[in-house]
Amino acid sequence: MTTAPWAKRRTFAIISHPDAGKTTLTEKLLLQGGAIHLAGEVKARGAARRARSDWMKIEQQRGISVTSSVMTFEKDGIVFNLLDTPGHEDFSEDTYRTLTAVDSAIMVIDAAKGIEPQTLKLFEVCRLRSVPIITFVNKVDREGRPCFEILDEVADKLALDVCPMSWPVGMGGEFEGIFDFASGRLTQPSGDSKAYEGKSSQHSGIDDPSLAEKLSAQGLAKFREEAELAQAGYASFDLEAYRHGDLTPVYFGSALKEFGIEEMIAAIARFAPPPRPQPSEAGTITPDNNEVTGFIFKVQANMDPQHRDRIAFMRLCSGTFKRGMKLTPSGLGKPVAIHSPILFFAQDREIADTAEPGDIIGIPNHGTLRVGDTLSEKNSVRFTGLPNFAPEILRRVVLRDPTKTKQLRKALDDLSEEGVIQVFYPEIGSNWVVGVVGQLQLDVLISRLEAEYKVDAFLEPAPYDTARWLNGSDAALRAFAQFNAGNMAKDRDGNPVFMARSSWDVGYQQEKNPDLTFSATKER
Ligand code: GDP
Repeated sequence: MTTAPWAKRRTFAIISHPDAGKTTLTEKLLLQGGAIHLAGEVKARGAARRARSDWMKIEQQRGISVTSSVMTFEKDGIVFNLLDTPGHEDFSEDTYRTLTAVDSAIMVIDAAKGIEPQTLKLFEVCRLRSVPIITFVNKVDREGRPCFEILDEVADKLALDVCPMSWPVGMGGEFEGIFDFASGRLTQPSGDSKAYEGKSSQHSGIDDPSLAEKLSAQGLAKFREEAELAQAGYASFDLEAYRHGDLTPVYFGSALKEFGIEEMIAAIARFAPPPRPQPSEAGTITPDNNEVTGFIFKVQANMDPQHRDRIAFMRLCSGTFKRGMKLTPSGLGKPVAIHSPILFFAQDREIADTAEPGDIIGIPNHGTLRVGDTLSEKNSVRFTGLPNFAPEILRRVVLRDPTKTKQLRKALDDLSEEGVIQVFYPEIGSNWVVGVVGQLQLDVLISRLEAEYKVDAFLEPAPYDTARWLNGSDAALRAFAQFNAGNMAKDRDGNPVFMARSSWDVGYQQEKNPDLTFSATKER
């Protein structure tokens, strides 16, 4: 085992359906971790300036955060990089992309609701990349579904082995605490708030007679019966299987009442993988590689319409980054000196002097860095696997003032570079088509067109429902395009895209054209 600094990095995200408790859990993790710094301040610093922007208005009106941020804290020698993701159901493309920059994830499930649609979608993205998952079943302080039902649902819906690591003694009004199987520690509510305030006791196991001093007779009897079944009935913990994404350890807790928080941090520290080797065109790049390499997974535009500067979020994959270093972005081909990188760490957001694999660096720039770009010292590496997702909503962009075509094209190119929308240029017809994963992205698009590009446009329904990237031989592509000219478009990189009336249409065309692939994601 290496003692390199990167080996002590844990870069992770929290995935969940809205309202399951992600924000609350994040807060409590930061609190427990002695948290130090909220990268949201990158946002806050310019907030006054930006308050005019319509874009901010959307955030305020809907009470959501559209931008993602990075939170770093250190505990017991481990550096935790928690990448926050927009929690709103509608704005998930950003979330998907952020998941390409993490090595593991915590999946939060509401004990009363089980696996919800957004959880499932995000889980599928994790599975694509075999991102290991620790499950946190939240809100056991309230009446929930039986624990066994939840465990079985995780196992069935996600096709994962589940391993209960702890067990609640009762739920809701009967909640008496949580028992951790590995350590034998019982944590219990105290005071009026019924929160966890440090009341805990140590036991040799679920049969330890001393448990009777801590729990009601009824609660204990039920707990023993359930816990015994739970331990016998599910897979035992297997680090390999977890790290391969085949098994999820399951912890019960209450973010609000602070149950299970310490356990969550300990689990990430002990089990979650350090920075993983990253796939590149020339094979995998391991973190101990000396050359500094990383990729951009997010670009956050400065909301000030007068200044077009942006912060690109880079995940470092190998080497030790030092301030002032020259890196070459794959999209640019010539080196740029990174003079004022932002490292999301320490009490006050200091300008980064060094960063290690697994860390995230914010790089201010004027639009030169794009989502998916690789940065490297020698321009020798190109990472793969940062996907674009097939849009679920397609709209035609119609200009109110037709003389603004050039501005619109520029705006659509910029915003698609940033990853706000995807843009498709149909082979036939003059109205460009934008694609998004969630409705909110469309609102952002329209207000930014107005505020930043002075383009007055509106959206109208497109006769398509979804889009697929086409791959195949030139001849096969040409033949297909001839028959389907009305449905063909190019994306901003010039790749051929089939715009389909329905997913049924995609299936039908795929069957008719077996020598073409219709891909729902495009890897850059
Ligand atoms: P998010 O949308 O996933 O970020 O969810 P939030 O953290 O905002 O939580 C949604 C709601 O659930 C809020 O009203 C929280 O106070 C509440 N909540 C979160 N965790 C718990 C918990 O452990 N127990 C209870 N009873 N409520 C919780």
